[in-house]
Parts: sequence; structure tokens; C-alpha cells
Amino acid sequence: MSKGMLIDTTLCVGCCMCEEACNEKNDLPKCDESDLSACKFTKVFERGDYYVRKMCMHCEEPACASVCPVGALKKLKEGPVIYYEKKCIGCRYCMQACPFQIPTYEWASAFPRVRKCWFCYDRVMAGSQPACAEACPTGATKFGDRKELVVEARKRIAENPDQYHSHIFGEHEVGGTSMLYLAAVPFGRIGFKSNLIEKPLPLLTWNVLSKIPDFVLVGGTLLGGVAWIINRRIILQDERIEEAERKRNAGEPTTRSGFFGRFGKK
Ligand code: SF4
Ligand code: SF4
Ligand code: SF4
Repeated sequence: MSKGMLIDTTLCVGCCMCEEACNEKNDLPKCDESDLSACKFTKVFERGDYYVRKMCMHCEEPACASVCPVGALKKLKEGPVIYYEKKCIGCRYCMQACPFQIPTYEWASAFPRVRKCWFCYDRVMAGSQPACAEACPTGATKFGDRKELVVEARKRIAENPDQYHSHIFGEHEVGGTSMLYLAAVPFGRIGFKSNLIEKPLPLLTWNVLSKIPDFVLVGGTLLGGVAWIINRRIILQDERIEEAERKRNAGEPTTRSGFFGRFGKK
């Protein structure tokens, strides 16, 4: 059964223990970033009278995965959208496609990776809960089966109509997400996008993308990226041929172990 988390902003006290647990679990370096970053996979924001956690929504049909040309991002039936860094070629289409502006990039690194919450995949697969959910002292972040969390969220709204705005953010947005939010006020007031469609974004195919003016820039960038990938492959192939010739001339074996460690399949 697909897992999810119910984040009830009416219960959140802004203690940031979820942030700390996440940083520790993922061995992230200390940083003062004011938004998600390569050193912060989840961040608690103050929005008027409320606190709101931001993190990867682990979309049911993730736009990030749909535009990745090498399959470096993948939605698992258990819920998490995970990242295979060895497959990643650094095109960063995922960053452009994500409707929630979640993936970040290690700009300063010699071998940069895309960085985002991975739903503590290892813990979830081992039958445990993500580090952030375990650390939350108020139950504002609750882990469980997504379907059951939807039922629970509806129950909370029905039993306390004065306490909750009658909408579960993430139940249907962009085809549904593993992260579900409850709030006391309309979500637009606490920083959520209120204009998201309910259809999964991957339904917007290349054809559609190229015909919608808003996406022309993105489409152009995509095409530029494809050209970059092809050129990169040609350069690498040339390098391999040169290396093989150099070794053959020197009488060395011509195996290429290591090359596929970064650019090949995992
Ligand atoms: S929120 Fe963004 S990065 Fe996370 S799964 Fe959805 S599209 Fe991908
Ligand atoms: S699921 Fe894991 S990686 Fe994601 S925010 Fe929680 S602790 Fe961090
Ligand atoms: S640990 Fe729980 S209560 Fe504390 S900031 Fe995170 S979600 Fe809110």
C-alpha cells in the first residue's frame, strides 16, 4: 500500500524538530538557507499565525520523473519518489518541471547532485517511519497509508468544521501527492499554490508543452538540454576512443571500468 504523511498545520508549533531529524538522518551539513537547499530537505516556515513545513510532495505522478531523460527519478509503488544519482546527467529538467519548486542542486560541488527529500526510503522499506515523523512531538507530521490518512483527514475536518478549512491539499492537486496537508485557513493564505490543476502534469506531453506559450521557454531549454546530452555523449565517446588508442599503443589493457560508474546505469 502506498505510504504518505499527513501534515496538520493546526498542530504544528514550529519547533523545527522535523528539520533537525532530517538533517541528522541525511547527514546534511549545517547551513542557514532560508529555503530548501542541498543542505536542507525540509524547512518550516512561519506564515502569519501558522507554521508550514515545505518538502518534496512525492507526487503520485511526478512531473520531475516524467521529464528526466535518463530515468534518474522514479516513483515507487510504496510512495517515495527517489533519485539515482549515478544515472543523473545534471540536465536539471526536474528542477524546471516540479510544480512545487522542490529539487535543488549542488552548485558548489565538483560532482553536483540534485537534492531533495527521499521520504526516508530506507526506513519506509524497513517498516519504520521517516525520521521527521518520528521526531514530531505534536503529531503534526503523521506517517501512514495514504488512503487511510485521507480518511483521517476527512474525519478531522468533519468533526471540527470550525477548526479546519474544508480542503485536503495534496489529495487531488497535480494528480495527488503522498504529502497531504490540513490547515485552518485557505491554503493560498499560508503560501501554497492555489491554482494547481488536478490532472497529473506528466499528461502534458512534449507536443502540448511546445504549443502552450507559457511553456515555450521551458521547451526551448529542454531542446537545448537534449543537444547538450548528445554533444556530451559524443565528447565522451571520443575520449574513450582516444584513451583506448593510447593504451593500445602503450601495450596496456583497454578495459574502461569506472566510466559507467557515473554516467552508466545503476
Ligand atoms: S514535488 Fe516536485 S520533486 Fe517532489 S515528486 Fe513532485 S514533481 Fe518531483
Ligand atoms: S522523509 Fe526523510 S528525507 Fe524527507 S523530510 Fe522527512 S526526514 Fe527528511
Ligand atoms: S516537528 Fe512537528 S511540530 Fe515541530 S515544526 Fe516539525 S511538523 Fe511542526
